[in-house]
Amino acid sequence: METINTTLLIIGGGPGGYVAGIRAGQLGVQTVLVEGASPGGTCLNIGCIPSKALIHAAEEFCKARSYAAETSPLGITTSEPRIDLERTVAWKDGIVKKLTGGVGALLKKNGVRLVNGWATILDGKTVEVRQDGEQQASVRIRCEHMLLATGSQPVELPFMPFGGAVISSTEALSPASIPPRLVVVGAGYIGLELGTAYRKLGSQVTVVEAADRILPAYDADLVKPVAAALGRLGVELRLGCSVQGLDEEGRVRVRDASGVDAVLEADRVLVAVGRKPATTGWGLENLMLDMDGRAVKVDDQCRTSMRNVWAIGDLAGEPMLAHRAMAQGEMVAEIVSGKRRHFAPAAIPAVCFTDPEIVVVGMSPLDADKAGIEIITASFPFSANGRAMTIDSTDGFVRVVARKGDHRIIGWQAVGGAVSELAAGFTQSIELGALLEDVAGTIHAHPTLGEAVQEACLRALGHALHI
Ligand code: FAD
Ligand code: NAD
Repeated sequence: METINTTLLIIGGGPGGYVAGIRAGQLGVQTVLVEGASPGGTCLNIGCIPSKALIHAAEEFCKARSYAAETSPLGITTSEPRIDLERTVAWKDGIVKKLTGGVGALLKKNGVRLVNGWATILDGKTVEVRQDGEQQASVRIRCEHMLLATGSQPVELPFMPFGGAVISSTEALSPASIPPRLVVVGAGYIGLELGTAYRKLGSQVTVVEAADRILPAYDADLVKPVAAALGRLGVELRLGCSVQGLDEEGRVRVRDASGVDAVLEADRVLVAVGRKPATTGWGLENLMLDMDGRAVKVDDQCRTSMRNVWAIGDLAGEPMLAHRAMAQGEMVAEIVSGKRRHFAPAAIPAVCFTDPEIVVVGMSPLDADKAGIEIITASFPFSANGRAMTIDSTDGFVRVVARKGDHRIIGWQAVGGAVSELAAGFTQSIELGALLEDVAGTIHAHPTLGEAVQEACLRALGHALHI
């Protein structure tokens, strides 16, 4: 068996692990990264990137279909479009291949040794690596620092396990065909992003959600335009409804809040009821680390309860977002190289790529209220924004939340077409400690959606110009 000695060993090559690897390499830390599947992790292979590619393809197809139906106010008509799903999936796979290849090249360029295989922890300094399909380990790695970045896995419903017609997001991202009837369990991120895409690709979609509204983790006002758009698209929502399992004919048995049972016809069932940290099957228990629920407990430097063992990303719990994993990975690499760092972002943006999109950064009015902070808040609707009109996307609004005492901005929420691109400016303003006056006094390019950001601040100060 080959033995490798290194300073930093990273287990998992997702956004957390690969960014840690690149940064450690830049800083001259001897680093080995073990990845069992493909570099890039969930995000690049079966998550963020392929889902956004499929969402985009579905949107284009749906738009073309609306032109064929002559319902477009733009005056464009076309004949009925067709979609060659095999080519769509190949296009999506091409993007994934390019990006994952890029990650491999960046690791190599920065001197990180990539070991392909599945790591099993023996102790806090040693792992063994087994190649896919092999029983015996072929490599042993000893390290000074061990960074755990194994990510997360989809939650399975015990009475409706994955297999056959019951699929997770992974299978949903590589469809061989579009199911005539798709039942989606869970109206969270994945259920709504992919449920919308399948509807636009032609499926009849029914979304079953246990809570009494979609995206229950989000502010109710933000979700309203998304719920209205789902209604217009023809997505059926079954809210306050619990799934009971499949019957003999493969139909989904559901029970509503008043205890009434029903069955839903389904050719495929996408279960998207959350993800759980990947903590089992790779010897993590040998370290007997302190846990925080299902996640590995970490402090504000991503240290676990064992010295020189670190955990980042989805393995370390919520929010399970790629950019948070990357920021933690970069930080741990810097600490291992001797820099002084803490993970204390003023805000972590979250974007839901529904139609329309949702962005939240920092505190909502409700969060501020719960925290006992007196606030000023104002919103500006896209129906009064010129750019929104020119892209035929006037649903939604931007809302700002600022402290009443000193006007410091503590939160942003937006819902609307393409608002994901506003996330950067929102987060920067909070991280830089901007006041309402700072954003209101910044010249925003015309005509852009960003003008609604400026106008929300002007409105909070009592002198909006275009409403
Ligand atoms: P992961 O990306 O899960 O990577 C972990 C890696 O570790 C995997 O490659 C795995 O193979 C490897 N591994 C595990 N165990 C071992 C072992 N024993 N040995 C070797 N290797 C191992 N987030 C966003 O911010 N924006 C989005 O738009 C978004 N969309 C998403 C869409 C979908 C459908 C899904 C499923 C997720 C999405 N996410 C999104 C979440 C995002 O993918 C995760 O937050 C992110 O990938 C977490 O990064 P990570 O590095 O912690 O783990
Ligand atoms: P989620 O937590 O976003 O949503 C799960 C939904 O399922 C919730 O609304 C919940 O109430 C519902 N639910 C739970 N059990 C149920 C049951 N038995 N029957 C009916 N409904 C039930 O989880 P997800 O959509 O699976 O996504 C997992 C994670 O992946 C997200 O939390 C997020 O961290 C990440 N993700 C992020 C993005 C993004 O950033 N755009 C996109 C996709 C995924």
